[in-house]
Amino acid sequence: MEEPAIELRDVTARYPAGRLALEGICFDVRAGELCVVLGPNGAGKSTLVRVLSGALRPARGEARLLGRPLAGMDRRAIARCVAVVPQGIPSAPGFTVREVVMMGRAPHQGAWMRASGRDEEAVLRALGGCDLLDLSGRPVAELSGGEQKRVAIARALAQEARVLILDEPGAHLDIRHAIEVHEVVRREVAERRLACVTVLHDLNAAAQYADRVALLKDGRLLAHGAIEEVMTYRRLKDAFDAELYVGVNELDGSRYFLPVRGARGPSPAEPERLPPQSRPPERRDL
Ligand code: ADP
Repeated sequence: MEEPAIELRDVTARYPAGRLALEGICFDVRAGELCVVLGPNGAGKSTLVRVLSGALRPARGEARLLGRPLAGMDRRAIARCVAVVPQGIPSAPGFTVREVVMMGRAPHQGAWMRASGRDEEAVLRALGGCDLLDLSGRPVAELSGGEQKRVAIARALAQEARVLILDEPGAHLDIRHAIEVHEVVRREVAERRLACVTVLHDLNAAAQYADRVALLKDGRLLAHGAIEEVMTYRRLKDAFDAELYVGVNELDGSRYFLPVRGARGPSPAEPERLPPQSRPPERRDL
């Protein structure tokens, strides 16, 4: 069987003077696979992104990238293997879309950063993939939030790394632009057989786009596997401490999730205080 593109072996990570941010994480992602990381605020998702991108060294355990220990690789070597789309949008005052996307080529260029034909080709492909060709000469600062997010993704794609990591790519986007972003990522993962880790808060988007899901809480991996195994009523309740209705979309059989109104109000010892219309649903077999 093919070796994982990303592998965490019993990884523990901590911040200086801080408590453990990740503890005993075992996790892998293969080429062509999109793994969504879910979990409440403070669960360790961003810390996981930092470990995977080489920005934070594990205190214990080992992170491996394309079969090599990440600890032995320099920043340039890591940047040729891993492209990261951070939270937020790129701050690039004065730069055009094309110039920002060309920045993704830096790990492949020499000291003078002169663009080769290969660089031009990669930038053109990334611009096309993110539907940015018509905007390529525009200053990034003048674009909408959704367009700027696509620029950040195009820059990461131009990097042509085999591992792609995204931290909340759909955050702050309206639903159409969020869908566009998820679709671009899904298509690139399939076409280029990328190994992709995406941190999401949107459970419905996770159920639509993930091949596998990792559920984090308090720095530990609660579950890791197929959507049907991980995104269950009970596991999501344990992770988020929230009452969710788990349904099945009749159009494609995928799961969907709805918050149950009023379920967080009275303590479980006093369920009779819940108004009848907001009682949690009986159906809890998912
Ligand atoms: P998430 O992305 O899931 O919201 P984080 O990975 O940001 O969670 O945080 C995990 C834990 O690490 C939290 O307890 C958080 O307070 C702590 N933490 C995050 N960043 C830092 C930092 N720079 N310094 C110290 N502690 C941090």
